[in-house]
Amino acid sequence: MTAPRVEIDLGKITQNARSLVRRLGKRGITVTGVTKAVCGHPDVAQAMLDGGVAGLAESRVSNIRRMQAAGIQCPISMIRAPLVEQARDVIQCCNASYNTEKATILKLGSAARELGAVHNVILTVELGDLRDGTMPEDLNDLAAMVVATPGVALKGIAANFACMGNVAPTADDMALLSRLADQVEGACGPYVTLVSAGGSASLDWALGTGTTCRINNLRLGEAILLGIDPISGELVEGLHTDAFALFAEVIETKLKPNSMPTRPSPLEYGTLEVVSNISQQNRAVLAVGRQDTDANGLTFSSGIGFIGATSDHTVVDTGQANVSVGSEMKMSMDYSALMQAMSAPDIEKVARHTQPVSEEIKGNGHRPLLKLV
Ligand SMILES: *Cc1c(COP(=O)(O)O)cnc(C)c1O
Repeated sequence: MTAPRVEIDLGKITQNARSLVRRLGKRGITVTGVTKAVCGHPDVAQAMLDGGVAGLAESRVSNIRRMQAAGIQCPISMIRAPLVEQARDVIQCCNASYNTEKATILKLGSAARELGAVHNVILTVELGDLRDGTMPEDLNDLAAMVVATPGVALKGIAANFACMGNVAPTADDMALLSRLADQVEGACGPYVTLVSAGGSASLDWALGTGTTCRINNLRLGEAILLGIDPISGELVEGLHTDAFALFAEVIETKLKPNSMPTRPSPLEYGTLEVVSNISQQNRAVLAVGRQDTDANGLTFSSGIGFIGATSDHTVVDTGQANVSVGSEMKMSMDYSALMQAMSAPDIEKVARHTQPVSEEIKGNGHRPLLKLV
């Protein structure tokens, strides 16, 4: 196999999805699987569906097209507000989209009418993350506008938490989102079917014991893929954290000083003796760099430490480990490293089932080895 490559264990993704679907299901909350961090990799999308997610969500039309071209058939929603330019594409490939702007919704309505479709609109409300979202005081007007626009239907409301900031949502935030759903119904009639309360950052709240009010959906990427709570960085209990691994080839191993000795100026030659007290380090250079991934988001096996990275090289301290040129080094990735690696053209993506097929994941039509570049 070539390196660099990302190896994907599909069985672990299915098990993570299944575990979250089951635990949140008991709380009356459905799970939408978010595929943007893997660029809509169809096998990963299928692994989420095998785990029972209610549908998928993506932020780019190109990724949705990729999934659909590979045969993924399920409701897909566009979680980034659609580009006005792409209104027709969004109508064609998504059954719903998250919106905050009248101009975009009007464009979606007219594109839907032209195509003879009705498109579901979910309105994103600003509840403190300060990324996308309509201000709560403007929500009723926007909802009324959706209801009055032919070609679109009001399906629900949603909020984002900890996308821009790193502040976990509170029970009060969830209560407010629920009240806003009631308020929209009071103001403009139709039942607000979906009340979607954010991504993996909301898991801690959702898996707690407090009331879930009207919240009935989460859109989960990181927790399913990496088993990590993005706020605490801790693993989510019961989930696999090693569904993805990055492999890179070692192209140099040398004992080097951990910093270069200061060079004396020519004037000082002969008069000063430079005594080096610089210690030596076993270093390896890996053929992977910032063009491929977020090098700061890599974790190495124990005894190996990150030193630095440039566009095409990553330098590590190999300590006492026996590392040879031509061998491969395995790394794990955080969300940012994963996202960049999955979109990097020079990184091969190898998706397969390596888990023994447990009772849980039997009979879902596994394919033994699937390779997608
Ligand atoms: C990325 C994204 C998500 C998923 O976030 P995770 O932290 O990966 O679970 C959910 N909703 C929106 C709008 C997003 O952009």
